[in-house]
Amino acid sequence: MGLFFKKAIDQFGVGLRRHQKSIQIIQWFIALFYLILLIIPAFMQLPPRHAHILNHLVLFAQFVFWGIWWPFVILSMVCIGRLWCGLFCPEGALTEWASRTIGRNKTIPRWIKWKGWPAVAFILTTLYGQLISVYDYAIASLLILGGSTFGAIIIGFLYGKGNRVWCRYLCPVNGVFNLLSRLAPISFKTDQYKWAIYHGETIHNPHCPPIINIRQLHGVSACHMCGRCAGMKDAVSLQPRSMNEEILVYGEEIHNTWQTHLLLFGMIGVAIGAFTWTISPWFVYLKQYLAEWLINHDVYWPFSISAPWWVLTNYPANNDSFNWLDGFCISFYILASGLCYGMWLTLIYKVLAYFLYKPNFYFYIAQAVIPLAAVGIFLGLSATTVKLLQYEGFSFWWLKDLRAFFLGGASLWSLYLGFNILKKDCNYLYQFVFTFLLFSISIIPIVAAWIMMFWIW
Ligand code: SF4
Repeated sequence: MGLFFKKAIDQFGVGLRRHQKSIQIIQWFIALFYLILLIIPAFMQLPPRHAHILNHLVLFAQFVFWGIWWPFVILSMVCIGRLWCGLFCPEGALTEWASRTIGRNKTIPRWIKWKGWPAVAFILTTLYGQLISVYDYAIASLLILGGSTFGAIIIGFLYGKGNRVWCRYLCPVNGVFNLLSRLAPISFKTDQYKWAIYHGETIHNPHCPPIINIRQLHGVSACHMCGRCAGMKDAVSLQPRSMNEEILVYGEEIHNTWQTHLLLFGMIGVAIGAFTWTISPWFVYLKQYLAEWLINHDVYWPFSISAPWWVLTNYPANNDSFNWLDGFCISFYILASGLCYGMWLTLIYKVLAYFLYKPNFYFYIAQAVIPLAAVGIFLGLSATTVKLLQYEGFSFWWLKDLRAFFLGGASLWSLYLGFNILKKDCNYLYQFVFTFLLFSISIIPIVAAWIMMFWIW
């Protein structure tokens, strides 16, 4: 059974290489569907109160983008790796097409290769999305998603030689996908020995879209799983693996400060802030306190709703507008959440590294919280799915149990990873007990935030 499964996965990888033409056709269909759903609803009237997902294009597009697309693409990263990037992503297909067919093929400049882009782009996009209510308005979706697609085409047009420079360096979710796909149970791998002894016909490197050194391939995190290198030199194949392998076996090799910042400050801290501000009593308290202070000091301009919709949400017809105070409080709450969580986790993991006399251990142990980050983002995004379906009359009596299952499972998974990482690196029992206790304490505020969001507030 195991062997059959392994063979089937391998054949699937080879099938991807053989059916590149069909994959391209699918990509063009998805790109067309994506552009239609992105552009047309943005120029339509706001939907009336009695409209439904199935009879109004604006609501349908909203449901497709924020109810299905994003939550399930995030989930797919953990379940099947970056197949989404390699096979279906419209931005990837468009940037590659622009580079291959009409591109100027310029050398990639150094500013594009800056390692901080994934973290900065994710945090800024998340914050901006909340300020302009990207989940609720089609024009806001067009600005954020369309802006990203436009950027992808321009970068493809200017740089690279038919590859996906945008996806590799600038895509706002590349860093997130990179981290989440470390948990995937399948990955393309290169057998170093078979590669070295290969004596068959000369094979040119396939056009690897994210420009990866195929010879060194042992994980999916940067690989888009397009399958173009499957079978190369009889050494590259798609293989099943343990969902812990990439972190436990290869995680120690990674010393990427920005990627760790993205995980701790962005995917945990900023994401918690972005998903909880709408229901947080602390947010209400902050806003009330500042409003009273402003009124007591005769300062009234922050209460005006003069900002255009592309700066702050402003839809008077829907009775939905943010004033400057709202904008400030939202930004402050989200960024403060990012800073508090990021600093708390960084501090604890640095203490663990210091205690074990291994400065780089901080990067390793931080990866143990990836399952919790993944589930947090999925649960946060899927709250929109649930909200939209509840408007349609669906009831979710089982939802609390399912959320508890996801959150409990992710917490145990993170503890399991932490346990095994620490077991590998601790020389004495007292070291292990102390460090594991500290690690367990570190994840309590993360779990607490989601418990408050889904069960208490
Ligand atoms: S290494 Fe490159 S060519 Fe091979 S599957 Fe991954 S993305 Fe495709």
